[in-house]
Amino acid sequence: MRYAILSDIHGNLEALRAVLADCQDRTDGVLCLGDTVGYGADPSACVELVAERAQAIVTGNHEFAVLGRLPLAWFNRHARAAAEWTRERLDEDHRAYLGALPLSTALDDATLVHASPGQPDEWEYLVTAEDGFAAFEHFDTRWCFVGHSHMPGVWSLGSSGREYRTGAVSVEVARGRRYIVNVGSVGQPRDRDARAAYGIWDLEAGRVEVRRVDYDIAAARRKIVEAGLPRLLADRLTAGV
Ligand code: ZN
Repeated sequence: MRYAILSDIHGNLEALRAVLADCQDRTDGVLCLGDTVGYGADPSACVELVAERAQAIVTGNHEFAVLGRLPLAWFNRHARAAAEWTRERLDEDHRAYLGALPLSTALDDATLVHASPGQPDEWEYLVTAEDGFAAFEHFDTRWCFVGHSHMPGVWSLGSSGREYRTGAVSVEVARGRRYIVNVGSVGQPRDRDARAAYGIWDLEAGRVEVRRVDYDIAAARRKIVEAGLPRLLADRLTAGV
């Protein structure tokens, strides 16, 4: 079994379609780590496509925000404007679907959660080495897949020590070790690489790899500007920040 693991799609349909095309022949199933909406101009289409394709999906803080479960004061003004805009574009079915998603779920020796396994609805960021190492006590599967920071990285813990790496991530499982992997963001990468990011988890090979995929950034940008969303949300797609 090989899963494509998608996170932080953020209403970017161009990036989502490119990733789904890329993973088509490389994987047998799709998992989604939340923040399917917010920032981009196609929240409804992204929700529908993910609902159709994903075997398992968890909720993110942007789902919480558009459903009114998280005060918008939590966000900076661009994210807030995007959340308000997105809220108006989702219909009852989309809201019901997003409202029923769990905060975390476990599947095939992996925990799936948007932000952190300890308190998923506190939306803490795992950014530093210590953030990740402290999170291992909060799940008991071998793998934990996260998104939220939009920065690919891997924390690993075992009797031979601790390890933390960011950037281009490829993990070969080692005996007795456990892993937290951030698969990066499909729709709004922030590691200065503008290409869409997603993870491939190959269970038999014991391998996780974060892939990068080119997509039509100009089209995604244009839609954001034409929708009247903050221009900064378009510009950051080009810069990958
Ligand atoms: Zn996000």
